[in-house]
Amino acid sequence: MVSRVIPVDPFDLVIFGGTGDLAQRKILPALFRRHCAGQLTGAERIIGAARTDLSNAEYRTIVAEAVRVNAGAKACSGGALAAFLERISYVALDALGEAGWQELSRQLRPAGEAPVRMFYFSVGPGLFGPLAEKLHSHGLANADTRIVVEKPFGRDLVSARELNRTLASHFDEGQIYRIDHYLGKETVQNLMAVRFGNMLFEPLWNSQYVDHIQITVAETVGVEGREEYYERAGAMRDMMQNHLMQLLCLIAMEPPAKFDPDAVRDEKLKVIRALDPVEPHHIVRGQYQARLDPSDPHPSYRGLVCNPRSSTESYVALKAHISNWRWAGTPFYLRTGKRLVNRSSVINVMFKDAPHSIFGAEAGRHANHLKIRLQPNEGITLSVTIKEPGQGGMRLVDVPLDMSFAEALGPEGGDPPDAYERLIMDVVRGNQTLFMRGDEVEAAWAWTDPLIAGWKSRGDVPKPYESGSTGPGDADLLMRRDGREWRGINP
Ligand code: NAD
Repeated sequence: MVSRVIPVDPFDLVIFGGTGDLAQRKILPALFRRHCAGQLTGAERIIGAARTDLSNAEYRTIVAEAVRVNAGAKACSGGALAAFLERISYVALDALGEAGWQELSRQLRPAGEAPVRMFYFSVGPGLFGPLAEKLHSHGLANADTRIVVEKPFGRDLVSARELNRTLASHFDEGQIYRIDHYLGKETVQNLMAVRFGNMLFEPLWNSQYVDHIQITVAETVGVEGREEYYERAGAMRDMMQNHLMQLLCLIAMEPPAKFDPDAVRDEKLKVIRALDPVEPHHIVRGQYQARLDPSDPHPSYRGLVCNPRSSTESYVALKAHISNWRWAGTPFYLRTGKRLVNRSSVINVMFKDAPHSIFGAEAGRHANHLKIRLQPNEGITLSVTIKEPGQGGMRLVDVPLDMSFAEALGPEGGDPPDAYERLIMDVVRGNQTLFMRGDEVEAAWAWTDPLIAGWKSRGDVPKPYESGSTGPGDADLLMRRDGREWRGINP
């Protein structure tokens, strides 16, 4: 199946932080792949802006290398890179001073030539507010300008409110794109398609039929290169408050009246607001230790951040409840951590057992299970119970009905645009459905803040877990106490 690529309106995109890690690993390669896919057909321009003094030619060399290393197998070859580089220019600029702003203004085209003007804030969070102010004071923003704001969006409710206020004094909410790249994943949107495009699931999507839901985002990487930020953030702020909460919202929300940005975001907001406070004994924090295997060179978390007393969590697991008619009584188990045994982002919807087994105890207990894999191998699997072939009597076995995108949809379906490609093109199209609204972010912090404050006041110390494991044993206990077990990251 070949997907249709619809060209977008010509744009000027300024990447503040254009020499940084995110720009080089994700943003520029994503733009290159869209260029190769034929989505940038005409006068689109990309302007890198950062502190370092560079000529256009020097910046293009950086971009070419970033694309070569990071654009992946999908990237096209031949003259494509040269044509892409034609779109690129550079301005040395200080977000906190006056240097470079006039030059940037000179490079931007009037609306008649570039109908879409976008500014991507790929800089440290401390510069988000100052950049918005500078864009305003230099007259670079108009009613059609869009800004893309990276994470983290605040470190608590107070700072998120303050940032929302600053941005709102220069831009309408409809111009602000708070990015969460998890929402750009193909499977995340497929989750909505599966729920709301089929009659099969939605009638069962409630506490009467769903026993519990698990959301796991497990990483094998540690926090190398981000030590200073991570030590002040931890897994709760870095992952749970945004990525896992967003996934929770999409799984749990009511059907929006239409697939429209505010309709979807209204429903997500209602989920966050319906979350109960989490009981302290329903949260497990962990911190990774070095592996016992002496051949593994990776240090412990504390060794890495050079703080032998650090109490920052590199892992968190919790049990949440949503107080509404649909979900009362169905627990949601969420966990995320660094240096775990596998890289795996997966949502497991565990249905209840059939109310009565006509096959007797010998058949065993079986329940349907919908598994939504975000990475690796995006896809959705539904396990169904059938008779074990060839056995005497009626023995039952669970088999997967697998909807692997790569197999079902051919090369194009199995290799869809990555999250940054999709999200940046959504900004060009002016579609905010997959971006977080200011009130959503604030509501997520309002739920998260008391949990963090509770740890502080109790002097909570994270449980150690070995690098390369599935996390602290207490997280397994959290499940086992409820007669359940985690699915998803075991090898
Ligand atoms: P980085 O430190 O690699 O790059 C920062 C960029 O900002 C550089 O280009 C630098 O020149 C520029 N900069 C710094 N001070 C400036 C100033 N005063 N004026 C103009 N430019 C200035 O950071 P990064 O890893 O690319 O992250 C950028 C943003 O993206 C951060 O908010 C980060 O939290 C977020 N983010 C990064 C990643 C990632 O994988 N790197 C993932 C998710 C979110």
